[in-house]
Amino acid sequence: MTWDLVFQILPWALPVLALVWMASLKPTSRFAEKYGINLRAVYCPSCGKKQSRVRSPKNYEEAMFGGSTCSACGTRMNKYGQKKDG
Ligand SMILES: [Zn+2]
Repeated sequence: MTWDLVFQILPWALPVLALVWMASLKPTSRFAEKYGINLRAVYCPSCGKKQSRVRSPKNYEEAMFGGSTCSACGTRMNKYGQKKDG
């Protein structure tokens, strides 16, 4: 393998590795809450209603960092389905 090839692959490999890493973050950390990717279905922590994957963000924070508001009971949660205060 020549260095030429390495530098051809690197710009593609790094974003892919970053995405894989972000998807594997533990939902408990504040960092993951902001920048993590949740590929699993999210259920409302209060009433158990499955949250739609296609979100209509209610505010800036939801638009930027994910999370949703339950359409059935109005509970706010982050993208991992953990209840949020406020
Ligand atoms: Zn709910």
